[in-house]
Amino acid sequence: MTFIKNKIDQLRKNILKYEYFYHTLNKSIVSDAEYDYLLNQLYNLELENKELITSDSPTQKIGVNLLNQFKKIKHFFPMLSLENTFDLNGYLNFEKRIKKYFNINQEKSLCCELKIDGVAISIIYEEGILVRAGTRGDGYTGENITSNIRTIKSIPLKLKGSYIPKRLEVRGEVFMMKSDFLELNERSKKDTNKLFSNPRNAASGTLRHIDPNITAERKLIFLCYGCYFFNEKDKKFTTHYKRLIQCSKWGLPVNQEIITCSNYQEVLNFYNNFEKKRHFLDFDIDGIVIKVNSIELQNQLGCNTKSPRWAIAWKFLSSERITKLNDVKFQVGRTGAITPVAYFDPIDISGVIIKKASLHNKNEIERLNLHINDSIIICRSGDVIPKLLSVIKSIRCKNAKKIIFPEFCPVCKTKLLENEEEKVIRCHAGLTCNAQKEKSLQHFFSKKSLNAIGLGPKIINELIKKKYVKDPIDFFYLKFFDLMKLKKMGYKKSIKLIESIEKCKKTTFKCFIYALGIPNVGETVSEKIANYFITLDKLLDANISQLNCIEGIGKVISRNISNYFSTSSNYNMVIKLVEKAGVVWNNSEVLRLNVKKTHFLNKKVVLTGIFNSFSRIELKNMLMSLGAKVLNNISQNTDFLIYGKKIGSKFFKAKKLGVKMISEEEFNCLI
Ligand code: NAD
Repeated sequence: MTFIKNKIDQLRKNILKYEYFYHTLNKSIVSDAEYDYLLNQLYNLELENKELITSDSPTQKIGVNLLNQFKKIKHFFPMLSLENTFDLNGYLNFEKRIKKYFNINQEKSLCCELKIDGVAISIIYEEGILVRAGTRGDGYTGENITSNIRTIKSIPLKLKGSYIPKRLEVRGEVFMMKSDFLELNERSKKDTNKLFSNPRNAASGTLRHIDPNITAERKLIFLCYGCYFFNEKDKKFTTHYKRLIQCSKWGLPVNQEIITCSNYQEVLNFYNNFEKKRHFLDFDIDGIVIKVNSIELQNQLGCNTKSPRWAIAWKFLSSERITKLNDVKFQVGRTGAITPVAYFDPIDISGVIIKKASLHNKNEIERLNLHINDSIIICRSGDVIPKLLSVIKSIRCKNAKKIIFPEFCPVCKTKLLENEEEKVIRCHAGLTCNAQKEKSLQHFFSKKSLNAIGLGPKIINELIKKKYVKDPIDFFYLKFFDLMKLKKMGYKKSIKLIESIEKCKKTTFKCFIYALGIPNVGETVSEKIANYFITLDKLLDANISQLNCIEGIGKVISRNISNYFSTSSNYNMVIKLVEKAGVVWNNSEVLRLNVKKTHFLNKKVVLTGIFNSFSRIELKNMLMSLGAKVLNNISQNTDFLIYGKKIGSKFFKAKKLGVKMISEEEFNCLI
């Protein structure tokens, strides 16, 4: 029992805090979905433990603290909240309850309206003149905001027409158009660098601004959704609908989207219609309100502590839903990148059942501080991709198990390495990790890699399945009769494939590097590395700063290359491929160029000006193929400056530093 009591106390404490921010300070520190979820949890706990219900529980009272800056007013009739439902069943339960009192199917017994997401106000007219206006407050006492209300253009200061009662109370919603809200936020950002989080909070802040001039400046709108009469003779307006029509005749703005109806199908149609339309409206609606139309029946049904029994709000499902986290699995992608994926109890968001969401990387896991069984908030970002927005930490179980990013590959147990620049943690065991093997082997023997003609993905996959191969080395030891056992492999085809595998051993250094499938190392990068290091030994010995020196190879790629070769399974495999399996390449092409043009081998070269015979890119590529490192800035370490026409500041700096300068003509002679 103490456990339940503590849980209830904790929920109440949090909900009251959220209500204070929302109603009093016009700020949402949690989403409406999270607030509704917690309140619902509290309702259910209190329902099962009725002895723990207290009058100050958020389930029993309208949550608000009144601001001292306004005088207080007492409401003539309580201004209550509305009972909520989020589904048809909830609505049908409401219908069942009210059916006890009257025949629901009688004509026009219900009235459906839009539920505008704004702030409730009450306005008192005496002899047709606006004399007082107030906020809902705690339902019994509100804030006197008459001066501010007088500045809202759509609210008449004087009613027009006939049958104007001696005293009339008008109730309605003050809100801000979405377009005006965006404009206001734009201005506010420029002037004060402060932003309202949504039109409702902006409307609430504006309505309760201490300076009515500010309220007047920002464009607030008012729509009336009800009224109260004080004299018997005025009570001839016997239905809610008739009353709204009369309000409209008196010059009060009333939303045109109101229908009277007789059965749940009509209510459902109204709901579905606006559920679809709502995103196209220039103001926020968060559902529809269904009210018993007859005022007499409304009076018979009465109210409970928080809401009238004659009305219900059928709210639209938020695009955010709350569910329970069951597990986080760490998937190994094609390039070895480890992606955490959250698995949770299935939920329906906009008609799609969702049960998992990617958590992207380690930072995201740390941001969310996830624990198993956490209540989590899911949305579909851009209305498509599921995203885990946040965790409701306040209701986390004690001893919940924290999700920790693994240190070793969940598939092959190789130590994971982080590329901090890229914010990616990888298993670099590529060709030897079961999770990456299929794709990596296909890549290894593909056309631009070792080019084993005839060794396509289907054969590779079958060989893996039959356990004939587990890494690229095994392919070079395949026997003719192994291949004969594969589907659709005859005698001739097998012989040909063995020949083809044998042939592909003769490759180039560039193709070999490319074949390894190091993340971010494509053809161009492979070529640059091959030209720079020339021999495998030098590449295997290279550290990050050496790699980073190569033109066009930044920190991300350098780190990936270094991580790749520092993974022992890769290092050993590369050595075995060359020393045992007999993969060879001919460096002569690169060497021939380099030997002949010794001038530029391993030299730091800077270019300036415009060249007659080449474009900048052509010249750069040519120099790189000659083994030069082409840099952008002149320094004391620069070996050569090659200059063309229209030289710039680099020329003069090089001169000052005594860097050797080569004109385009001289360069042409040299090559
Ligand atoms: P409510 O907003 O769900 O419903 C009652 C209100 O609906 C009325 O007071 C009235 O202002 C409005 N309304 C709009 N159209 C109406 C119509 N046609 N007829 C009658 N009323 C109409 O209830 P509430 O008690 O005002 O506020 C609770 C809601 O506020 C929560 O469900 C949540 O969405 C939000 N909230 C959010 C946070 C947060 O931190 N995010 C905190 C507190 C409350």
